[in-house]
Formats: sequence, structure tokens, C-alpha cells
Amino acid sequence: MFSERVERLSGSLIREILAAAQRPEVISFAGGLPAASCLPELDFSGVPPHLAQYGTSEGEPEFRAAVVEELARIDLNVEASQVLVLSGSQQALDLAAKLFIDPGTPVITEGPTYLAALQVFKLFGADITTVQQQNDGQLSADTLQQAIAASKAKLAYLIPTFQNPSGACYTEATRQQLAAVIDAAKLPVIEDDPYRALSYDGDAPKPLVTHLKNAPWVYCGSFSKTLAPGLRIGYLVASKDLIPYFVRLKQAADLHTNRLGQWFNTRWLQSGEYLDHLKQLQLSYKVGRDAMQAALEKHFGDIADWLVPQGGLFFWLTLKQPRDTRPLLKVALEQHNVAFMPGEAFYANPEQGLGHLRLNFSHASPERIEEGIARLASVIRAA
Ligand code: PMP
Repeated sequence: MFSERVERLSGSLIREILAAAQRPEVISFAGGLPAASCLPELDFSGVPPHLAQYGTSEGEPEFRAAVVEELARIDLNVEASQVLVLSGSQQALDLAAKLFIDPGTPVITEGPTYLAALQVFKLFGADITTVQQQNDGQLSADTLQQAIAASKAKLAYLIPTFQNPSGACYTEATRQQLAAVIDAAKLPVIEDDPYRALSYDGDAPKPLVTHLKNAPWVYCGSFSKTLAPGLRIGYLVASKDLIPYFVRLKQAADLHTNRLGQWFNTRWLQSGEYLDHLKQLQLSYKVGRDAMQAALEKHFGDIADWLVPQGGLFFWLTLKQPRDTRPLLKVALEQHNVAFMPGEAFYANPEQGLGHLRLNFSHASPERIEEGIARLASVIRAA
């Protein structure tokens, strides 16, 4: 009854866990949700009536113009015609997979990488080669070059800024080196950048794609982490050669992104409210980050290693004694009411990811963070 593709359709562990972790007594470090207290109030008074009509596939002109201005602040200088508004930046991954991936197409990702990118790339049949991040959170340009040559890669997918799940942020020098390798191979690259605005120790270096000269590129942006994920507003910006294809793919997928969400986000961007809101988010999440760092030092210092994330939403722990953390999740949830994301889920080959935990720090209060980390450490120690 179904297409061959459906055999490659994997479930999302994170969604199954989120369902189980919603009991109020559970302290959940599993998801990547913005704190409920940090969501904006949705005031839709004054919506122009014409928004009830169909819109354009590319997106609302005012919104695309506002995105161009936002991107200019980070030295990504593009024309409005290069911006395609999407139903969440997740849609960029779906459209890019349709554009670049046939069954067996070699694709490079970081190890670890974003779970739902793996899900969509695998659905389209990608043959994934993983380039491991180093212990210092950087990606080696030499290793990338070797992986491109060995796999004959046709696409690379990178999250250089406050990565999900590792929290790593590539330095300016790393970005330049990676861009040089990608340019030399003329390899199409996707830079996924939803966490950039959540920075706690100063601004992140400018996007990797700003260093490219030859390679076709796609840059994915999102307002899910800074405004309201429920509105499902994201966008892609791409090199000019790719845009006509993406517009047609968007038409074929869902005609256009919902106009109400675009209107709401445009109003926020055009008013000063957005920048104030970002400052609030940064302050509030920095408190969570610092609370988790203190709790980890206290309870995990002798059993795990980690880097302190300078932005984003996650700590990435590496157990000193590697072991599969998936069975521990059940114990943690059922016996100790604490949830985390097992690291194996962030690898195309889960065996490469044994012994890691991803911990979100934006959702629980500092007190609950301390309590949850203590409970989690006791689960790991008992194991
Ligand atoms: N990319 C990464 C790396 C993410 O972490 C997420 C959200 N978890 C997305 C894309 C998708 O975000 P959106 O809500 O914009 O679809």
C-alpha cells in the first residue's frame, strides 16, 4: 500500500519521550522548548482582513524585508528575493532533502547532529557520513575534507552556532577553514541557525555561509526559539541559483506559509519589542545555564565531561565510562521522575553516540534544575 520511502520512516524518540515527560512531577531536561514564561502574548487585534486570502509562496513582502534587515546585522547581505518564508525552519530541511537527496545520496553531517534532520534525510534515503566534533567542540576542516573525498558527498548539513545537541559554537577561524574546504569541493551546504540569538557570553561569529565564494548554500533561520514556535514561522535564504527550485518545492508542499504568523512576527520585528524580548530571554536562560553548570559541577564532576555552552538550550555530557544511555531513560523517568535525551538519538549510527546525555536548561526553574541533576546523577551512579 505504501511507497518504498515509508520503510525508512523512523519515529522520533524525542516526541515519544515528551509525551511521557509531561506529568507535572517530572523534571524534564529532554525537550528543547522555550520556557512558558518567556512566550509572548499573542495579540492579534488589528489583523488586516485581506490576510484571510491566499498569499504568495515566497512569503509576505514586509516580512521578507524585515528578515533581510535582521540578516544584515550578522553580515549576511542578501536580497529579499533570496528569502523564502517557511512553516518553521524544519521545512527547509524537508525541501532541501527533496532537492538534493535520492536513495543512496552521500550526505555529511556533524556527529552529533539534529535528530529531526537525520529523520528527514534518512526518509529520502541519504547515505550519511558523520564527521565527529572534536573534544573542544570544533570541527576539523581536514577531517571534513577527507570525509567529502571518501564519501563523494553531494550535500553537507552543519549547525555551527550553539548546536543542537552539543551546544558547540565554531570559532571564526574554524568557520573560515570549513568554508574553504566546502568551496574547494563546490559542495552544497545547509547552515542551520535557529539558536544564534540565544547567546549568553557575547555574540556568536557571523554565519559560515558569509565566508563562501563558490559553493551553493542554504541558510535556515527560525523564530521558534525566540518568539512563538506554535506560529511555525521560519525561513530559508539561499544562493541565487537555488531559489527558483525552492520556490517550486514550497508551492508543491503547501502553497504558502500561514499569513497570520508572518504578520505577527513582522509586527514584532518592526517594533523595538523584539530586541527587548531577546534581552529578556538571554538573561533568563543564562540563569538556567548557570544553575545547570553549578549543579553539574556538584553532582557530575567525577562521572562526566562537558563544555559550558555559550548559547542555545543544551548541555552535552560525555560519560567518563561510556555506556548506552537509552535504557537509563526508562529508569530515570519511571523511578526518579526526571527526563533527559539519550545521546544515541543524535547519531545516524547510534552505536557511535554511546555515553552522552543532552540536557535542556531553558525549561525548569533553577531549583528544579538542581533537584533534577541530583536525581539524574544517582541514576547514572547506580548504573
Ligand atoms: N534545526 C534545529 C537545529 C533545531 O534544533 C530545530 C528545533 N528543534 C529546528 C531546526 C526546527 O525549528 P522550527 O521550529 O523552526 O521548525
